[in-house]
Amino acid sequence: TYIVNDNCIACKYTDCVEVCPVDCFYEGENMLVIHPDECIDCGVCEPECPADAIRPDTEPDMDKWVEFNRKYSEMW
Ligand code: SF4
Repeated sequence: TYIVNDNCIACKYTDCVEVCPVDCFYEGENMLVIHPDECIDCGVCEPECPADAIRPDTEPDMDKWVEFNRKYSEMW
């Protein structure tokens, strides 16, 4: 799954949301998040992000960001 990190804060672009084939982006408090269970790992959003905020959860130390994305995508 792909996950959004805090590089997203205050980014005004939503190109990632538009390309996602399963609409799994959600609004957090001040940034977007990806629902980790809905993401199909297609990767098309990652190069669209100008802030380099979308990373695969296979990178080191991503656990807290996975939980953060889950929390905010299920909040509303
Ligand atoms: Fe959506 Fe694909 Fe990005 Fe997952 S990797 S959030 S399915 S565009």
